[in-house]
Amino acid sequence: MEELVRRIQHDGNVLSEGVLKVDRFITHQVDPELMEKIGARLAEVFADKKITKVVTIEASGIAPAIYAAQSLNVPMIFARKAKSLTMDEELLTSSVYSFTKQLASTISISRKFLNEEDHVLIVDDFLANGQAAKGLIELCQQAGAEVEGIGIVIEKSFQMGRQLLEDMGVPVVSLARIDSLDDGKVSFKEADA
Ligand code: 5GP
Repeated sequence: MEELVRRIQHDGNVLSEGVLKVDRFITHQVDPELMEKIGARLAEVFADKKITKVVTIEASGIAPAIYAAQSLNVPMIFARKAKSLTMDEELLTSSVYSFTKQLASTISISRKFLNEEDHVLIVDDFLANGQAAKGLIELCQQAGAEVEGIGIVIEKSFQMGRQLLEDMGVPVVSLARIDSLDDGKVSFKEADA
């Protein structure tokens, strides 16, 4: 997605250790117009998959996921990282190792929001080693729901996430694909959409 690539070039900052900071438009301050276009593009790509729910993980996945869900006219569910006191029902849970925080956390979704009739599109802001998306796939599997695809805003293609998810049999569509962050520079490869 050209506009996204231009925005990363303009407003993204490369941190050490292969981390891209995009807090000017995705992960802290959010550009709703760009997020709406991203959501609409992901919805378009998965339009023929009869998606019934969009699933993401808090916090930065929520903005693109909500617009994808709006375009597909289905609910969006975000997995929680901390158990809330109000989550008193049966939960689907999985353990996720966070690339940026370098610690494992338990993610959960109330069982009542996903079932075996659901066809799920998973959306997230970044794909690095694939642990967040894998945890979300596991939650969907526990519910008996079918994961139709994964829509990613920024894929760091030099990490192993895409391989892991494709090996699980789930198609991955990334709107920007980063080949390298070496020497403080962002190099792109051709995106999927
Ligand atoms: P994974 O689980 O694929 O290893 O990492 C994906 C998660 O880690 C995303 O949900 C995102 O929050 C975070 N993440 C991974 N790499 C980066 C990065 O380079 N920059 C930012 N801002 N977040 C990242």
